[in-house]
Amino acid sequence: MDLKSGNLYWPDTLKEKPSYPIVEENMECDVVIIGAGVSGACTAYELKDSGLDIILIDKRTVAAGSSSANTGLLQFSNDQLLHEAIRAFGKTAAVDHYWRCFNAISRLRDEIVPSLSIDPELIMRESLFFASNEDEIETVQEEYKALKEAGFDVEYVEKDEMKKWVPFSRRAAIITKGDAEVNPYKLTHGLVKAASDAGVRIFEQTEVFLKKADEDGVLIRAAGGYLIKAKKAIFAQGYETQETVKEKNTVIESSYAIVTNSIDDLSFWKDNVMIWESARPYFYARTTADYRIVIGGLDERTSNPDMRDQKMIAKRDELIKEVESWFPQLQGAIQAEYNWSGSFAHTHDGQPMIGQYGRVPNSYFLLGYGGNGIVYSLFLSKLVARHIMGKKDPAFSFYSKERVYEPE
Ligand SMILES: Cc1cc2nc3c(=O)[nH]c(=O)nc-3n(C[C@H](O)[C@H](O)[C@H](O)COP(=O)(O)OP(=O)(O)OC[C@H]3O[C@@H](n4cnc5c(N)ncnc54)[C@H](O)[C@@H]3O)c2cc1C
Repeated sequence: MDLKSGNLYWPDTLKEKPSYPIVEENMECDVVIIGAGVSGACTAYELKDSGLDIILIDKRTVAAGSSSANTGLLQFSNDQLLHEAIRAFGKTAAVDHYWRCFNAISRLRDEIVPSLSIDPELIMRESLFFASNEDEIETVQEEYKALKEAGFDVEYVEKDEMKKWVPFSRRAAIITKGDAEVNPYKLTHGLVKAASDAGVRIFEQTEVFLKKADEDGVLIRAAGGYLIKAKKAIFAQGYETQETVKEKNTVIESSYAIVTNSIDDLSFWKDNVMIWESARPYFYARTTADYRIVIGGLDERTSNPDMRDQKMIAKRDELIKEVESWFPQLQGAIQAEYNWSGSFAHTHDGQPMIGQYGRVPNSYFLLGYGGNGIVYSLFLSKLVARHIMGKKDPAFSFYSKERVYEPE
């Protein structure tokens, strides 16, 4: 699958990338993880000290799939807002899901990042979520109420108050606390390196295919004709997981992003708050460790990479215009030094999934689809790792196809 096109920013930020060998022999292991994007990397990290023999394989290089097209906003708020999730799944399940997202970011900051030898440039940020137009004011108000009732640290921002954070203003907005920005490429490399250092066997540039899965385990065929026999397989192939097993709950569309030149003075953007809005599709923006602006959005409902890429230049120009309209002081002073398009998946029901299918026993399919792909990967990988180690987690079944909510 053609996952992305254009000129990506993140790979340029890691000059000395760790590299790993290709598969050159038949192998056996307890768990094989297919895909070394952020979801496979998180899974290898979660299992690295389990005592199990783990193999992680990618057909590209580490983080060279969608994880390099990611814009690295880590938010506990989802594309499906809390009040919408409450309507769809009930209050307890939806609120628990939001807290799981929140806690995943806190754990990344407190436990995971300090253990990595590659610094993923994690910075805790507040998020500013604003009403895109008059019709959306109620949406923002409802969301504020739902978040507040659920116990999140959230602030309602009236029209004129918004200028405390950014030079533009809308009729209603909220500030949420507990989010973060990250360099997704460095994060993925950092997680894989930590797994490798702990003894996980990592392979790159080796495409693999599911050959057989039955009650005894899983047989994977690797490029070159080598076979990998595992007790369990975790398919973390990102959107390409759909090539192994098609999940009906998946929608694949297209999205666009740019990264500008470094800006000398960002003092007009208080605390570099991460910005997003209520319209769908939405614009969103953040800054980088080297003072650039990342802005993304303008999603298209096509999964066709040719149609996606035909619009890349026009989308780049529209994204620049949006930055200039938010920050008039930057007019004429910014260029898109990087711009790209990417395939982007979400689920019909708005929630990430751990796919398990009767026809593919002993296998898990990590579908952390949606705008919170990293946050989802962080906790789905932990749920799968615990499941493999025989630890029952009440949240597991909520992320199954059946969406059964079994509170503790
Ligand atoms: C423009 C854009 C902006 C985004 N912004 C954000 C954001 O701000 N925050 C956020 O959390 N998420 C964001 N996302 C979503 C995020 O990028 C994804 O959720 C996440 O990167 C998916 O990670 P993954 O590991 O599942 O997939 P990938 O990174 O694609 O990794 C899957 C890996 O599997 C490998 N693979 C596939 N098939 C095989 C095979 N047969 N054999 C061997 N290897 C195989 C691939 O080579 C690939 O490296 C964004 C996405 C896009 C496109």
